[in-house]
This record gives sequence, C-alpha cells and structure tokens, in this order.
Amino acid sequence: MEKIKLGISTCLLGEKVRYDGGHNLDRFLTDTLGKFVEYVPVCPEVECGLPIPRESMHLQGDPESPRLVTSRTKQDMTERMLSWAKKRVFELEKEDLYGFIFKSDSPSSGMERVRVYNEKGMPVKKGIGMYARIFMEHFPLLPVEDEGRLHDPKLRENFIERIFTLKRWREGLLKKDSRGNLVDFHAQHKLLILSHSPKHCQIMGKIVAKAKEIPLKDLYQQYQDILMEALKSKTTPKKNANVLMHMMGYFREQLSSDEKKELLEVINNYRQEVFPLIVPITLINHYVRKYDQPYLNQQVFLNPHPLDLQLRNHV
Ligand code: SF4
Repeated sequence: MEKIKLGISTCLLGEKVRYDGGHNLDRFLTDTLGKFVEYVPVCPEVECGLPIPRESMHLQGDPESPRLVTSRTKQDMTERMLSWAKKRVFELEKEDLYGFIFKSDSPSSGMERVRVYNEKGMPVKKGIGMYARIFMEHFPLLPVEDEGRLHDPKLRENFIERIFTLKRWREGLLKKDSRGNLVDFHAQHKLLILSHSPKHCQIMGKIVAKAKEIPLKDLYQQYQDILMEALKSKTTPKKNANVLMHMMGYFREQLSSDEKKELLEVINNYRQEVFPLIVPITLINHYVRKYDQPYLNQQVFLNPHPLDLQLRNHV
C-alpha cells in the first residue's frame, strides 16, 4: 500500500529541535501509525532561522491575533514567523498532504488551547500556534490533530478514519473523473458517512442524485467539501449503533431468532459502551461473508482502516 503523506511537528519524531535541545518523541506516531504514513516534518521555529537551543517563546496579547515573543528578553518574533509560515504553506501544497499532526501547547505549532498571556502576565488557554493557524487557514479541509488529542482513542480513530477516507477519495480521482465513479464512491461510503452525520449523508445523497445536472468539476468539488465536513463530525456509540441496526435489517431473512437476539444484545452492549465497536463489527462482518450480502460487503464502514492499528478495540 502506498503510504499516506502527513505533515508533522518535527519534534514528535524524536528530532532534537526543541528550544531546550530536546524532543517530544511519540512512539505511537513513529512506530505504529508510522508503518502506514510517510511524514513530512515541519519545525517552524528552526525553519524560520532560530537556533537550537534558543530562548523559549510564548504568545501574548489578543488571543485572536497574538504576538509571538521570547519569554526572557521579550524579542518580538511575530513578523519573522508569519512571513516564513506564509511561504512554507505554498511549498507544502506540492507535498499533497493528507493531514497534519501538530505538537500540542506550542506557541508556534499548537492547534488549539495554546496559552496566550495578557499584559498582566496571566495566561488564557485560547490561542492557536502561529504556524498552525496559517496552515489551517490555508488548508481548511485537511484533517488536523495534535499528539495530545490523539491519545484519546475516539479522536485517534476519527482522525485516522478521515485520512484513510481522503486517501480513497484521491485515489478515486486519479482514475477517470466520471459521475459513475462518484456514485460508486458514495455507495461504498454511505454508511460510514451516516455514522458521522445523518444530515450530511442526506445532503450528499441529494448531490449524487442530481449528479447529471451538475458540471463534473463542480460536482466533485461540492462532494469533496461536504465529505470532509461530514467526517469532522465525530461518531458516537449511539450513531454507530443506529448504523449497525440498519445493517442488521439486511439479514432479516437469513438470521435465526437466536442469531438476531445475539446480534441485538451485542449492539446494545456496544451502545452502552460495555463492548468496544470491534465486537459488533466482527459479528456483522461474519454474517456479511456467510450470507454474501453484496451491498454490505462493499461498505467501508466495516473496514475503514488497517486492522493492525486496532483502533476499534478501544472505542
Ligand atoms: S513544537 Fe513546533 S516549533 Fe517547537 S520544536 Fe516542535 S516542531 Fe519545532
């Protein structure tokens, strides 16, 4: 499988680029996710020309447009960082990234809740790192997360599901653009999208139904924008359980009453978070194979990312 290209804050890979000469190696990112992705490292502070080690920095002023200032000598690094970041995002366009993993809490790389100090020196956790803000404004639809949030199994599963979906979408685009390809993509991803957002799934269904009336380029753009927006909305046990119940309906004829009872119990136990998602998914996959259910067989919801990552064992 061709690897997925992800941008990443360089220190998370174990590179000693931090202000104090250290690193923030994250073993899940390097050893586990690293088997499936190719990282494009970005260290804003070093790449904008600052040395290692260097004075630490922080954000100060208005959380919406703070200044980046060194903590002891109060040198203002805002213009240096902004002019570098604005050029860097154009270079990154050529990398064809599928997302970015930021270092949390950093005044340069943090994607949310970064400390911003007011004139009295009191912090509020409302800031966005200076480079992270420029990146997210430049690539508004790309999946982004930080390594701290990725320790949460649900956020981790959501992020990785999004990058693998984007991969399938872009691979589909590499084939000939056609309304038929888009309709196939939607059919395969319908239950996955439903598990994130029934509202978006309905809108996308309408776009696909009107595919012949929309110019092809606009059709692809509209669909891609809504797809990425839909997947930002998190799945929940309730939403997933509704999709599983929907799938169960396809076996109405084949399952014995005992099998139906068992499947229902497993789904309810998952809904109440007694079982992880992998339990009902494994049982449904078993029935899909056993009864050769073609519509369900093509559903990405049953297998959205590599099993080796074990993401559904913990959600
Ligand atoms: S947090 Fe960002 S700026 Fe700081 S060392 Fe890591 S990559 Fe560099």
